[in-house]
Amino acid sequence: MIKDFFKLNNYEFIEDAPLVNHNTYHVKSKAKFLVYPNNIDDVINILKFLKDNNFEYIFLGNGSNIILSKDYYDKVFIKLDKLNYIKIDNNIVTAGAGVSLIKLALDTALNNLSGLEFACAIPGLVGASVAMNAGAYKSSISDVLVSAKVLNDKLEVVTFNNSNLEYEYRDSFLKKHKEYVCLEATFKLENKDSEEILNLMSSRQERRLDTQPLSYPSAGSVFRNPPNLYAGELIEKCNLKKTNINGAEVSEKHANFIINKDGASGSDIIKLIELVKNKVKDKYDVDLILEQEIIK
Ligand SMILES: Cc1cc2nc3c(=O)[nH]c(=O)nc-3n(C[C@H](O)[C@H](O)[C@H](O)COP(=O)(O)OP(=O)(O)OC[C@H]3O[C@@H](n4cnc5c(N)ncnc54)[C@H](O)[C@@H]3O)c2cc1C
Repeated sequence: MIKDFFKLNNYEFIEDAPLVNHNTYHVKSKAKFLVYPNNIDDVINILKFLKDNNFEYIFLGNGSNIILSKDYYDKVFIKLDKLNYIKIDNNIVTAGAGVSLIKLALDTALNNLSGLEFACAIPGLVGASVAMNAGAYKSSISDVLVSAKVLNDKLEVVTFNNSNLEYEYRDSFLKKHKEYVCLEATFKLENKDSEEILNLMSSRQERRLDTQPLSYPSAGSVFRNPPNLYAGELIEKCNLKKTNINGAEVSEKHANFIINKDGASGSDIIKLIELVKNKVKDKYDVDLILEQEIIK
């Protein structure tokens, strides 16, 4: 039935789609369907069909902040990769939800626009990153975002201003209300010489290469830093570096990273997360909070 609907509407889709290249842990999970709407009207049409027929769905960005806990999802995974336009009008920049944040940071830098330097090594797409309020180096999306075009729970396209998005640290109205989808975002940046911006970005990228296990699959920092503490330091002091469960391993290079060293499943990663949380709780009485999202 879903297949007929996708075919009838000429949507690009994959049935029983391998998700290994759609999550940065490279967990070998599968989805009943993966579909790529061509534009916003397609997104609305697909959602209307799925809701009317009670099919479960989820929007997937670059899969760089998720843990796929199941081997198989009887769901439709919707990817907005085709909403991949960038429009630059002086210092106002608009990007579709499917644009890579790293590409946006680079493109704006090359146009002598400053403000997205923090995003130069965050491997997410614009849509999810607006919802997550992605950030680094004490800056985040909420510092530069003017407004977002959003599909609301009634399938209407509405504009949320920055203040309506209720931004907090790695959190927003959109993150709390999963039925709302970010379709497009508009940013206000500052004029600055591109060479200066690019130098800062490359020094930050080099530092990450030195300090983070970027040659292995991961989804970035596992836990939020507790107030005035570093999650990585607590984990390291519990001697948990290199602790391994079926291929999921606490990184030797940075203890707040779990890497998929050798064919780990999502549940192996989750088991390792629980082990780390329990050890840190036992030794330091600190409750670590997961930064990544477990997809059930
Ligand atoms: C090596 C590495 C380094 C990282 N460094 C950082 C960092 O410095 N700072 C940081 O903040 N993060 C970092 N991350 C985590 C991650 O890149 C960010 O959280 C990123 O914003 C997630 O984007 P994504 O497209 O991969 O989202 P996904 O992981 O695909 O999805 C995340 C959530 O967003 C939802 N979603 C997807 N699309 C939309 C949409 N259009 N509208 C609303 N919700 C949507 C999904 O359903 C899911 O709930 C890092 C990850 C890695 C692997």
